[in-house]
Amino acid sequence: MTLTELTITQAHQGLKKKQFSALELCQAYLDKIKKKDKEVHAYLTVNESVALSQAKKIDDLLAIAQETPLLAGIPVAVKDNILVENVKCTAGSKILKNYIAPYNATVIEKLKAQGAVILGKTNLDEFAMGSSTENSAFGPTHNPHDLSRVPGGSSGGSAAAVGSEMALYALGSDTGGSIRLPASFCGITGLKPTYGAVSRYGLIAFASSLDQIGPITKTVEDAKIVFEAIAGKDEMDSTSVEIPKIQNTKYQIQNLRIGVPKEYFVKGIAPEVEKVIKEAIKKYEKAGVKIEEVSLPHTEPALAAYYIINPSEASANLARYDGIKYGHSAKGKDLMEVYLKSREEGFGAEVRRRIMLGTYALSSGYYEAYYLRAQKVRTKVIEDFEKVFKKVDVLLTPTSPFLPFKIGERIKDPLAMYLVDVYTVSVNLAGLPALSLPAGFVGKLPVGLQIIGQPFEENRILEVGEIFEKL
Ligand code: GLN
Repeated sequence: MTLTELTITQAHQGLKKKQFSALELCQAYLDKIKKKDKEVHAYLTVNESVALSQAKKIDDLLAIAQETPLLAGIPVAVKDNILVENVKCTAGSKILKNYIAPYNATVIEKLKAQGAVILGKTNLDEFAMGSSTENSAFGPTHNPHDLSRVPGGSSGGSAAAVGSEMALYALGSDTGGSIRLPASFCGITGLKPTYGAVSRYGLIAFASSLDQIGPITKTVEDAKIVFEAIAGKDEMDSTSVEIPKIQNTKYQIQNLRIGVPKEYFVKGIAPEVEKVIKEAIKKYEKAGVKIEEVSLPHTEPALAAYYIINPSEASANLARYDGIKYGHSAKGKDLMEVYLKSREEGFGAEVRRRIMLGTYALSSGYYEAYYLRAQKVRTKVIEDFEKVFKKVDVLLTPTSPFLPFKIGERIKDPLAMYLVDVYTVSVNLAGLPALSLPAGFVGKLPVGLQIIGQPFEENRILEVGEIFEKL
């Protein structure tokens, strides 16, 4: 096994037994980046010298310490909408092209406290708006399994980095699927935590009632390790809560009840994706798990509601980019012209589209017809899940109805792009945890299986995921 193939536990053991140093591990990843990232374009910033000096510090620590934290010396990539102190943070946007983060996000503080080695910042759709990473102002990321295809989005850089061994693990953010979709398209694992499980402090806000930071990893065990490291209450984010530590209780496989929502297998799903997912479900069944068909009747309206609520919150959050407070500042004859020109020059097409849609949906006279209506649908979506979780423990679905598509295939038609999110957005509207893990391949293209759980039951979906890895 080469150094870049190791999982977190394997790398931790190797460091502990002095089979290799943290410096060597870090260098192996930097070499991979040099070799591969020209064609994949997963990174926007690589901090070679900072990463190496951090690795050196960990080696010094390893020389004297009996025990080190699991993530000490492990190289990580961070989505470029999460602040790392003194490092550029662009959110994939021209408007923040030269913005240097003045402080660390809470998740970064937590990883640094464990001794993580931060390799750099990864590409994303501008302000995390998109499903393909093509909306980045700095050019698209390519899928490591087929360079002519998208890696999914918006955390496409993070997923492509892990999928091509240019980082051992990564952080992403998920507002409507942006951890799970790219994990699925890049053949790796991604966990979207329960809303409130992980602090959002230092995450560039997109749609605040939906955003969560989570791990993108090679295995389910790695996702669990990273999740435990970043979760917990933070006084800087009033929506964050303390969660019980993950118990290593093993569920009796025969007692596990799994639901399969019928609305996720209707017209629109690619037949080859459906086949892989159905086979995955059969594997659980053969192992003795009870599989039950369930119904989430508001799956389709959920997508429409998401694309009202998300732009509404985004339009409010993005009002702060006025050319004065942050980032790109255009010249103008008066303050109003500075505002208008800075935003016009700084924002790309999708960001402008969402600001317009959101502002419209929130405007007086239309608020009731759009925003309020969408919030009512959101309540229905939550009720759908509450109902099925009375009968089953977790749900199995495809992560995406499609295989990774070609770069350029959907970008000209925003509605075709929004359709990619149909299986992921309901989870964010309901605040639930969900995992995407590799279910199989169609040719060389990976297909992701989504496991949805009840609030704060990350342990359960992780365990159901681990069961699948062993089947
Ligand atoms: N694709 C979805 C959107 O464009 C989700 C994005 C995300 O989760 N950040 O809104």
